[in-house]
Amino acid sequence: MGKQLIVQKFGGSSVANVERIQCVARRVAGYRKKGHDLVVVVSALGDTTDELIELADKINPEPSEREMDMLLSTGEQISVALLAMAIHKLGFEAISFTGAQVGIITDTSHTRARIIKINADKIKEALKQGKIVIVAGFQGVTLNQDITTLGRGGSDLTAVALAKELKADACEIYTDVKGIYTTDPRIEPKARKIEALTYDEMLEMASLGAQVMQARSIEVAKKFDVPIHVRSSFENATGTLIIKEVKNMEDVVVSAITLNKGESKITVCDVPDRPGVAARIFNELASCGVSVDMIVQNVSHLRSTDISFTVSKAAAPKTLKITKKVSQGIGAGEVLEDNAIARVSIVGVGMKSHPGVAAKMFEVLADKKINIEMISTSEISISCIIQKKFAETALKSLHEKFGLGK
Ligand code: ADP
Ligand code: ASP
Ligand code: MG
Repeated sequence: MGKQLIVQKFGGSSVANVERIQCVARRVAGYRKKGHDLVVVVSALGDTTDELIELADKINPEPSEREMDMLLSTGEQISVALLAMAIHKLGFEAISFTGAQVGIITDTSHTRARIIKINADKIKEALKQGKIVIVAGFQGVTLNQDITTLGRGGSDLTAVALAKELKADACEIYTDVKGIYTTDPRIEPKARKIEALTYDEMLEMASLGAQVMQARSIEVAKKFDVPIHVRSSFENATGTLIIKEVKNMEDVVVSAITLNKGESKITVCDVPDRPGVAARIFNELASCGVSVDMIVQNVSHLRSTDISFTVSKAAAPKTLKITKKVSQGIGAGEVLEDNAIARVSIVGVGMKSHPGVAAKMFEVLADKKINIEMISTSEISISCIIQKKFAETALKSLHEKFGLGK
């Protein structure tokens, strides 16, 4: 293997304390010794980002999003400086940069900014000088010099975007598990590590709740065909490849099960059954920036119906306020919230060509006497909303019945 340019990203748990930072430094130095050029993206130490969010909440429960980005971006600035120092200590040259310093230019949507372009000259210059380049993940800067962040889990996106921009030979995501599993190994110890997954499957898994990779980072990887290797920062073994196409020996119908407990169900009762009513509700929500997930409308008998939909828990208070106002305007009834729900989903490209997958999923839930409150499907996934107290049972039963266990 000749000299390569490798982008490596280390998540929060991989740099949670002094020993782990030193361990990352040794790993990075090891690759440098082999002659490779390295761009290392780092997340904030451990739970720093969550702690900063809590801190802000104590000061002001409705903080300005610009100031939130000022605050949250500090987390990653700490880790890059510490990692650079740890690498220096081992006798290697390294230099740390913030997102702004390496020209990660974003739009102005604070807390969820989109990358517009990257001016990677500074990185290329430092690499030419033989330095290991360390970049703060999760952050960028607007053309107006305001600091932005890229949404939770955004260091994954920084790594993928840099790998694309620098035409890196590899993009490695180091984390606290050995790769992508058939389900969250923290919930189901029988979960199996997957050797390779397609971008589409990973994107679906990430969107449906598998927090291990940020969904947006996979969108970018898919768009520019950046292969990703997700692997453990604590050992050397190969992890999971996320690539365009996977050739399986046998067709796998269901590849993974995901769980999302981060949503609330909102129900608008007694909605008049006439054209334009749903449009009113969802237009109003959209114009206030609320993104709605699953939607169901119950069968109408007496010229009125119930409409239920899900939104993220964070958006629920705002959603309730807006929906109650619209409900009055259109002559509908009460608006109810249920936040004790969970979404359990099965994901797999093999579903496209195999009938009966949905039926099997519903049967597994029925066997456990779990009521399905909402259903939604895509080409490669099926999701059910159930009561949260059944979430783990549902996940484990589906994992077993679809033959995913060890
Ligand atoms: P990092 O700090 O490295 O970014 P994250 O906490 O964002 O790590 O993601 C890793 C975690 O994702 C794991 O500890 C695991 O519990 C969770 N996870 C959820 N679903 C999966 C899955 N299908 N495969 C692997 N890990 C998963
Ligand atoms: N520190 C940020 C977060 O916790 C970004 C990341 O870890 O990827 O969301
Ligand atoms: Mg992460």
